[in-house]
Amino acid sequence: MEEIIMEHAGKHALVTGGGTGIGAGIAIALAEAGAEVTITGRRTEKLAEVAAKSPRLHALEMDVANEASVRDGIAEAAKTRGPIQICVANAGIAEGKPFAKTTLADWQRTMTTNLDGVFLTFQAAMATLGPDDPARMIVISSIAGVRGLKGGPAYTASKHAVIGLIRGLSEEYMKTSITFNAICPGYVDTDIVRNQIPGLMKRFDTDEAGAIAAIAKGNRNQRLLEVDETTSAAMWLCSDGARSINAQTVQISGGQV
Ligand code: NDP
Repeated sequence: MEEIIMEHAGKHALVTGGGTGIGAGIAIALAEAGAEVTITGRRTEKLAEVAAKSPRLHALEMDVANEASVRDGIAEAAKTRGPIQICVANAGIAEGKPFAKTTLADWQRTMTTNLDGVFLTFQAAMATLGPDDPARMIVISSIAGVRGLKGGPAYTASKHAVIGLIRGLSEEYMKTSITFNAICPGYVDTDIVRNQIPGLMKRFDTDEAGAIAAIAKGNRNQRLLEVDETTSAAMWLCSDGARSINAQTVQISGGQV
């Protein structure tokens, strides 16, 4: 009988924020494709729920806003499961506030998680690689990484900044087999979006469907994206055929952003 070899068998993948939403979708798909996947986050119960879906999913409590947590956590995961050949820096927060009301503390909270967290994750993950090891480094940016988002200056700046990071790294590592890309989704049906619904219902005096429709207007096709759409983009970037895709922003918003 012919042996079926899974696409990512034998690889170690890391997905930050892998206990929920976009990260969980990518982590599960990578595990289904044969990778051993370390999923990280602060809420261990969320990680455990996802890890229960496959013996190839491994929960690791790790706060991307804490340097020691990232460096120690990733080093430990690599000691157990090997060099990280697929790294998805997905953990992020989205806090909307107009510019004039954004305090330095608000600004720094967003930057620490959405930008410093990616820097630390990438650096620690790449430190596990040998000189000739191939790797796919992916960051989950946003459409707010390629255009301005009204009422979210810190979020917009942080998501633009990670695109600057992958572009710089792609130049620095051009002669290696490591690629750096960003996925830039519009509004996806996850907790980040769902958590906004009660506030929008109040603000616009509408029901849940009305609030969802208001959010979906931010996508060119006027509907919320499903998690499988971001998963597919990540799986393509991890595929062998995408080995020359480097320093790109994959925009998913139903149309031109
Ligand atoms: P979720 O809220 O479900 O996911 C965010 C994840 O990030 C959670 O698993 C959370 O885990 C983790 N996280 C946040 N802060 C930290 C931290 N300090 N340390 C470790 N983990 C952390 O929403 P999404 O899945 O939608 O978000 C994932 C990414 O996608 C984010 O970067 C977001 O900006 C981006 N994005 C989302 C869009 C959307 O419409 N949903 C659109 C564009 C981009 P825990 O709280 O347990 O630590």
